[in-house]
Amino acid sequence: MKTIVAATQNKHKIREIEAITKEFGMSIIARDEAGIPKVEVVEDGETFEENSYKKAYEIMKLCGKITIADDSGLEVDCLDGAPGVYSARFAGVDGDDDANNKKLIDLIKDVPYEKRTGRFVSVITMVFPGGESIVARGEVEGHIVLEEQGPNGFGYDPLFVPVGYDRTFGEIEPEIKNKISHRANALIKLREMLSARENTL
Ligand code: IMP
Repeated sequence: MKTIVAATQNKHKIREIEAITKEFGMSIIARDEAGIPKVEVVEDGETFEENSYKKAYEIMKLCGKITIADDSGLEVDCLDGAPGVYSARFAGVDGDDDANNKKLIDLIKDVPYEKRTGRFVSVITMVFPGGESIVARGEVEGHIVLEEQGPNGFGYDPLFVPVGYDRTFGEIEPEIKNKISHRANALIKLREMLSARENTL
């Protein structure tokens, strides 16, 4: 089993990717631990797929190792899919979760619960040193609530109630989130694609 570098610097994502992939025996190392120079990969794509590939490819070029990247976000149906690829910087400042959640609540506060539907999306791209890539998309459907609930997770987790549950990802135990989340679904697909290849890792 080769070590795979995770292109993300988001500690929450790294923790989830490590927990999920450990179950399938993959060995993940965060890019900071791999000694990769601090570079900013500009996420200027219009789709999760474009940004995910760009992040994985740029970091693979720097480290020469198999690299995976996650580009993810929340699509809200009554907002025509926003914040989508702009999820991290919805309120203007990259990674300001509180401001993003407040903006989201404000935009949908008059929409009834049954219409406050949406999904988390995660696109995981694995890029090999030869340039070959594999891409897997995972989603989880749910509803958005108007008050932050629960201390777990990150980002929009305290506002998102996955279908089949009556608690937000902020309240649901991380072990459960890591079985049903968009990120888990994408990584499960990636594992299936890898096992279907002739040359596995
Ligand atoms: P990225 O770094 O452009 O992929 O940013 C993803 C953004 O989407 C994060 O900053 C969060 O706002 C949101 N997001 C993605 N995945 C999750 C999740 O699992 N829980 C909560 N928010 C998420």
